[in-house]
Amino acid sequence: MKRFDALIEIAKLLVNELVVCNLGDPSRELYSIKDRSENFYMMGSMGLTSSIAFGLAISQPKRRVFCIDGDGSILMNLGSLSTIANNNPMNLIVIVIDNSSYGSTGNQKTYTSKKTRLEIIAKGAGFESVTVIDKEDEIIPKLKSLGLGCHFVLIKTMPGRAQVKNIPLDPEKITIRFIKALSK
Ligand SMILES: [Mg+2]
Repeated sequence: MKRFDALIEIAKLLVNELVVCNLGDPSRELYSIKDRSENFYMMGSMGLTSSIAFGLAISQPKRRVFCIDGDGSILMNLGSLSTIANNNPMNLIVIVIDNSSYGSTGNQKTYTSKKTRLEIIAKGAGFESVTVIDKEDEIIPKLKSLGLGCHFVLIKTMPGRAQVKNIPLDPEKITIRFIKALSK
């Protein structure tokens, strides 16, 4: 499976959930699969997807928040995992799509292609719920089985991007649209 395939499965589950999506190809791909005003597409702040999703989760405790991050980005901001796990918001799923590469900049390998195991880091950071998925058809059942809680989900994929267009919205529009969606 590639990231695009994983995103298609995740998108099938989105109803009222708020989504914070990693910058670059992941956001472009999600936009092409299922654009919605509840999607916040990161533009230009690599590494901060999980931090923004955490802030959103604690400020919107009645909404479920999906953080869709990548291996390269979470490796830039591992401290975020400790912050999230220790504060333990009951409405946050941190999904890391791990393709072992910096996909948006030309598939340079990340350290998850070598010795680094993000699921072990997440456990060590304090996440009580850690799930690893490596088959496409497991994504929906495993995500559905997660109840209220603070979850870390690692989805292992192959490198590679889908041929999709750029997002035709500027960051300001995305932000305003998203803020409006919060009051729905
Ligand atoms: Mg990656």
